[in-house]
Amino acid sequence: MVANLSAIRNDFPILQRSLPNGKPLVYLDSGASAQRPQVVIDKISEVYEQYYSNVHRGVHQLGDRVTTEMESARSRIQNFIGAEHPEEVIFTSGTTMSINLVAQAWGRHYLKAGDEIILNEMEHHANFVPWQVVAQEQGAVLKFIQLTPDGRLDLEHYQSLLSAKTRMVSVTGMSNVLGTINPVEEMARLAHEAGALFFVDGAQSVPHLPVNVVESEIDFLAFSGHKIFGPSGIGVLYGRQALLENLPPFLFGGNMISEVHLDESKWARLPARFEAGTPAITQAIALGTAIDYVTELGFDAIEAQEHHLSQYALEKLLAVPDLEIYGPQELAERGAIFSFNIAGAHPEDLATLLDRRGIAVRHGHHCTMPLHQHLKIPASVRASLCFYNTTEDIDALIEAIDFARQRLR
Ligand code: PLP
Repeated sequence: MVANLSAIRNDFPILQRSLPNGKPLVYLDSGASAQRPQVVIDKISEVYEQYYSNVHRGVHQLGDRVTTEMESARSRIQNFIGAEHPEEVIFTSGTTMSINLVAQAWGRHYLKAGDEIILNEMEHHANFVPWQVVAQEQGAVLKFIQLTPDGRLDLEHYQSLLSAKTRMVSVTGMSNVLGTINPVEEMARLAHEAGALFFVDGAQSVPHLPVNVVESEIDFLAFSGHKIFGPSGIGVLYGRQALLENLPPFLFGGNMISEVHLDESKWARLPARFEAGTPAITQAIALGTAIDYVTELGFDAIEAQEHHLSQYALEKLLAVPDLEIYGPQELAERGAIFSFNIAGAHPEDLATLLDRRGIAVRHGHHCTMPLHQHLKIPASVRASLCFYNTTEDIDALIEAIDFARQRLR
C-alpha cells in the first residue's frame, strides 16, 4: 500500500464528502469516470479567472498566455506517452472521438473491399461500432480474436487471423469489464509483421499503466481526460507523424486550413489539421495538470496500490457465496476492475441497494454488448477501483453485497 494514501485521498475533495443520505461516499466507479484532484479543479478556475480567451488566434496577451498553456499541456502529454513530437498529440473530445476520427479518416481513404480489421468481443462499443460502420461502408471484413474461458485474448488465434489482408488491429489496453490487461507490445509486433497498423484504445489502461508508444510500436493511441483525473470533454489521439501526415482531415472548418479559396481549400499542418474549430481550451490545459499529477505520483506507486487493492478485492469477492466474477483471476493479467453477478439478483437491484449504503458502482452492459452476449448474461455489476481507494472501501462493498443478498433472496 502507498505510504501516503491519506494525503493522496485528501487531494480529492469529493472523496471527503458524505452523500445526501448521510453515508460516506465509497467511490468504486472510476472506470466510468475518475475523480479530480484539487490541483486540476484549481487549474480550471485559474484559466477562467486569469487568462481565458481563444487559442491560436489573437496577438493580445491573454491569447498568447492561453495558447502557451495549451501547447505546454500538449508537450507534457507527448512526454507522458513517449511520443516523439508534440504535433503527434491531437486534442479530441475523448476516446470515442479519437477512434471515430481514425476509423473515418483512415478507413474511408485506405480501406478497400476485402481488407480486414481485427477486433475482439471484449471491446467497448467505442472501439467496435466505428470500425463496424466503416467496414460496412468500404466492404471490409471484421475478424474477431477468440477469448479464452478466463477472458484473455487467444494469441494463437490472433496469429492465425493475421494475413496480408489485415489492415488494422485495434485492441483495448485494458478491458473495462473483465479487467484483462492485453499484451499490446507483442500484439503490435505481430500486426506489423503482417503489414497492418496497430491501434490501442487506452481509455482504461493509460490512467493505470505506463505507456510508451515508440517502444511498444503503437501507431495510434486514444484516451479520455475524464478517466485520467482530468476534465470531461477532452481526450487525446496520438498518431505516428508519418501516418497522420498522410491522413485526410476528418472535420472541416476554422483552424484546420492553411488557405481557403472559392474553389478549393488547403489543410493546415499537424496538429491543427485535426483540430477544427475552437477546441476545449480549459479542459486541454487542465488535462496537462492531471497528467502532471499522475507523473508526480508515479506509476510505481499507482501500480503498487492498485495491485494491493486488486488482491484484496479478488480474495473477498471470491469468498462471497453465489457470486460469479468475470475475467482473469491471475493478478498479473488484470487491472483493478471487477465485474460480477450474484445468482438470482438483478444487477440493477444490486447496484441500487449498494448505492443506499453509499457505494457507487456501475451496472448494465458497460457499452460491451458483444462481450455480455459472449458471457451469456444480459448485464453485470462493476466495481472499478483506483489508487485513491482503500481496503476499507472494499470491506464496505462486501458488507453491502451481503446486505443486498439478504434483501434480494
Ligand atoms: N474504451 C473503453 C475501454 C472505455 O472504457 C470507454 C469508456 O468507458 C471508452 C472507450 C469511451 O470513452 P469516452 O466515453 O470517454 O469516449
